[in-house]
Amino acid sequence: MPAWFQSINPQNTKQYSLDEIIYRDPETGDLLEVRHDMAALKKTSAQAWRDLFGKRWRSQNKVDQSGIWGKREWVLPDLPVEDVVTLGEGATPLFSGKELSRLFAHDELHVKLCGNSHTGSFKDLGMTVLVSQVNHMIKKGAPIRAIACASTGDTSAALAAYAAYAGILSVILLPKNKISLAQLMQPIANGSLVLALETDFDGCMEIVQQLTLEKDIYLANSMNSLRIEGQKTVGIEVAQQLGWNLPDWFIIPGGNLGNVSALGAGLKMLYELGVVNSLPRIAVAQAEAANPLYLSYKKNFAEFTAITAQETAASAIRIGNPVSVKKAITTLKEFGGVVEQASEAELADAAALGDRAGLLVDPHTGVALAALQKLKQQGIIKANDSVAVISTAHGLKFADFKVAYHKESSQTKLKNVPVDLKASLAAVKDAVARFLDNTTGKS
Ligand SMILES: *Cc1c(COP(=O)(O)O)cnc(C)c1O
Repeated sequence: MPAWFQSINPQNTKQYSLDEIIYRDPETGDLLEVRHDMAALKKTSAQAWRDLFGKRWRSQNKVDQSGIWGKREWVLPDLPVEDVVTLGEGATPLFSGKELSRLFAHDELHVKLCGNSHTGSFKDLGMTVLVSQVNHMIKKGAPIRAIACASTGDTSAALAAYAAYAGILSVILLPKNKISLAQLMQPIANGSLVLALETDFDGCMEIVQQLTLEKDIYLANSMNSLRIEGQKTVGIEVAQQLGWNLPDWFIIPGGNLGNVSALGAGLKMLYELGVVNSLPRIAVAQAEAANPLYLSYKKNFAEFTAITAQETAASAIRIGNPVSVKKAITTLKEFGGVVEQASEAELADAAALGDRAGLLVDPHTGVALAALQKLKQQGIIKANDSVAVISTAHGLKFADFKVAYHKESSQTKLKNVPVDLKASLAAVKDAVARFLDNTTGKS
């Protein structure tokens, strides 16, 4: 087999077909991962991979253009191209510039805009893979009637859109009143069954695992390692955009912790196949209100204790019992990893600072930018290290967060309040003059 499911537990070396409906190692209960026949992939030279991926990125073919499916030999090598369900995900901009560098006092700073995507978050990267595989399995006669997920908002938006596009039913379990309005509107609009449960995300996650024990409802959460195969392309894309070089550091916001293991998986493939010559370090950024990995890191990962996550503007990472914690800790150990946390004020100010450079920073990316500032203060990230921050969502999905920051009554550092003015040229000229005098030469 060119790719298969295998337990993350080395005790069980059995291979399971990707067409099997299976999410956990039946013997140990551990999560599975997708393994690839690396010997087969090594028959293609590093330069040939670089050339192929570069050519596809610029192609007019819809499947080749996708950031995921343009790298399909590394993702799902066996999936027939006609079964691919793509909405043009991936191939997102790598943002950098002199204002960003000036504001964060950091020369080599890149922000990977994964939120510039069909449903506005990086969750599209994994969902295209999962829904494509389900589409393929249904065509082959699998008894799947719907796809289900628990969500803090973005997973459900991605599932709803990709499932609707493929003509597959979807079922969404959300924690009631704990996600943004834009995120709630997405699966409603796409016609999913939306169930708002009186619990938190961790409560929804427990129920959806029970629900999907029946094989007719397929599980779309990132504990299903098909999602990881799509999300792992993010680091590969960054390398490609930096001329097949990697930065010294990646900083990534973490909640359920699938994404950090995905980043690591892609980076390892790049390195093993000789496409890059060095590996970066990885920093996971958590909100202080939902920081179980940070607490474990502080004890050198000697133990991990789930917590009850508290309220945070970074609502998509409000998770106290992350399902992929084992994978994440393994990844962090392999990549000289660190974990940092950000308070609500720190994440909001870091987001607002990024906005001043022309970004529109969502609260989760705000957590990552705040972590950058704190890791620099501690001397862990050096001034001349190159850094890529993974921006996980589009700021427009969190307009309420921005409005609150810039409200008249807010005590925030970079507050910018709209000026109510009567419609007269004199009043406008006066306001412009005051703006120019007060702003020129300041940031
Ligand atoms: C899902 C999500 C994350 C966290 O990813 P995990 O795999 O759960 O760690 C971060 N930011 C946003 C915007 C998300 O939707």
